[in-house]
Amino acid sequence: MMNASLAARPTAATSTPETGNGAKTCPRCNRQHYAWSQTCDRCRYNALSPDERQIRRRAKWLARRQRISAGGSRVTPAELREIRKSGSCTYCDEASTETDHIWPLSRGGPDTPDNIVPACSRCNRSKGTKLLTEWQRGRVEQGLLASEKIKDEIIRLTWLAADPAP
Ligand SMILES: [Zn+2]
Ligand SMILES: [Zn+2]
Repeated sequence: MMNASLAARPTAATSTPETGNGAKTCPRCNRQHYAWSQTCDRCRYNALSPDERQIRRRAKWLARRQRISAGGSRVTPAELREIRKSGSCTYCDEASTETDHIWPLSRGGPDTPDNIVPACSRCNRSKGTKLLTEWQRGRVEQGLLASEKIKDEIIRLTWLAADPAP
């Protein structure tokens, strides 16, 4: 009796929408669950494209890592020096004379090495307290080619915009 129309009819005692214990019944698979949405987490996940699934997995991993680093130790002067000397400016490829917090401290970014890249003073001044998605697209695209850290932050920002309540 795996008829699709059966799911829409509240005849079976085990698959009514109101279960009385706070659980919901998923309209796709008919299982009871406690997710915030009517559709269960597994069916929502299965409906995503492979690319979306990968981005979702990476965003969750990043959010977890950033929660850990926010409560962890701050970057040391020696680490800052090392980051500054590790390459040219992430955003324009000129000589780097400073370091930039990709996710600005004033916007809640962590003061940890995975959030800091080498930068020139021109880019640093121009970026200021902007998030990557608020800044010049050309320089952000250069940054994406130059550093995995930039890619991580773009994924974080994109995921937050697409799904504020996962
Ligand atoms: Zn389901
Ligand atoms: Zn620059």
